[in-house]
Amino acid sequence: MQVVVIGGGIIGIASAYYLGRSGAEVTLLEKGNLGNGSTDRANGGIRAQFSSPVSARLSMESMEVWETFEEEFDTDIAYRRPGYMFLAREEETAERFEENVRKQNEVGVDSEMLDPDEAAELCPELYAENFVAASYSPADGFADPHLALQGFSTAADAAGVDIRTKTEAVDVRKDATGRVTGVETAEETLDADYMVNAAGPWAAKVAKLAGVDLPISPKRRQLMVADPDTPVDSSVPFTIDQDRGVHFRPERNGAVVCGGHFDEADPDMSPDGFPKQVSLDWSAQVIEGLSDVAGNFGPETAVKEGWAGLYSMTPDHHPIIEETIPGFVVAAGFSGHGFMQSPAAGQLVSEIIVDGSPSLVDISSLTSDRFERGTRLEEGTVID
Ligand SMILES: Cc1cc2nc3c(=O)[nH]c(=O)nc-3n(C[C@H](O)[C@H](O)[C@H](O)COP(=O)(O)OP(=O)(O)OC[C@H]3O[C@@H](n4cnc5c(N)ncnc54)[C@H](O)[C@@H]3O)c2cc1C
Repeated sequence: MQVVVIGGGIIGIASAYYLGRSGAEVTLLEKGNLGNGSTDRANGGIRAQFSSPVSARLSMESMEVWETFEEEFDTDIAYRRPGYMFLAREEETAERFEENVRKQNEVGVDSEMLDPDEAAELCPELYAENFVAASYSPADGFADPHLALQGFSTAADAAGVDIRTKTEAVDVRKDATGRVTGVETAEETLDADYMVNAAGPWAAKVAKLAGVDLPISPKRRQLMVADPDTPVDSSVPFTIDQDRGVHFRPERNGAVVCGGHFDEADPDMSPDGFPKQVSLDWSAQVIEGLSDVAGNFGPETAVKEGWAGLYSMTPDHHPIIEETIPGFVVAAGFSGHGFMQSPAAGQLVSEIIVDGSPSLVDISSLTSDRFERGTRLEEGTVID
């Protein structure tokens, strides 16, 4: 079986690896270099603390892979697990967290509610008096997306995947019945029984090559590394002030990676040309927000570097994973969760193509027609 995967980000590479391992003959096309899309711009967060059962399940299955990645892929991805802690300032938010924790526990996620003093035990400089409650899951954490991409790509190469960088897919061939039969590059046409659209923020554009409309919008999000006044210990969880929309997590040597999204306007961006630098205004807003979360972020807090990237957003913040038309498989629209869920996504893509249907997780709710059918999903713990 011949498969052409379009996109050399973490979703495309993971898909190519699992397909190759299952015996498919795989060619992966990447128009730039591996990871140059959203993957190298991600924060690396890995959590199962979602209120939507399908998101929690995708993450839980992926965490099984992340846990053993170093042995299986011979690559240290700097996986650390200090947990994720969501903070509530408002009673209403705390009630939502309680509902989320109930749903998470139902699907096997080991999350719990904390009172502000318990939250301060995990984050010693926390201004506990500003919060009414927190939800916490100790198994959550983060890893390095680029190292993970390298681990998957080395393994994909060993599994026989033909990885072609600087090679853009420019058109899709179909037969008279509408089934995909090949993918065109500038140089040649590659025969394909299946193609996989793993083009991240370019996914809607790639879908158009096959005559398919996908509701996936590229939205700009920013992150920065800061040196707080008081260093943040590596044991402090990935901490999110849900009501103010700011977050931070420990980086190396007391520094943090932090961010937030404050603008009401959230225009679609062109993935081929959007501002990649962070603005001074935004940096100031993040530090000001964090200065009301924990004592670490005093006036001497220094910004070291910042960058912007794109979330590939669907209207309900859940991905689309499906065979949309015969031979055309989509794994895209992962919003802020594509890195963490890539191992499950890759396995599911392989199951759809090699086994004929997905089985790792019930993804029947992740089809693209859910928006027209009015069965869009809900997620209460979005991090912007
Ligand atoms: C600021 C920020 C923070 C984030 N934080 C997290 C986080 O903490 N945890 C998490 O799980 N996720 C996070 N994400 C989301 C995560 O980065 C994405 O979900 C994930 O990287 C998507 O991977 P992908 O492979 O789908 O897309 P990409 O990495 O964008 O890869 C798509 C690739 O397709 C290629 N391509 C496009 N068109 C073509 C074509 N026609 N032919 C050939 N190649 C083509 C592109 O060049 C690109 O390399 C974050 C994202 C941003 C922007």
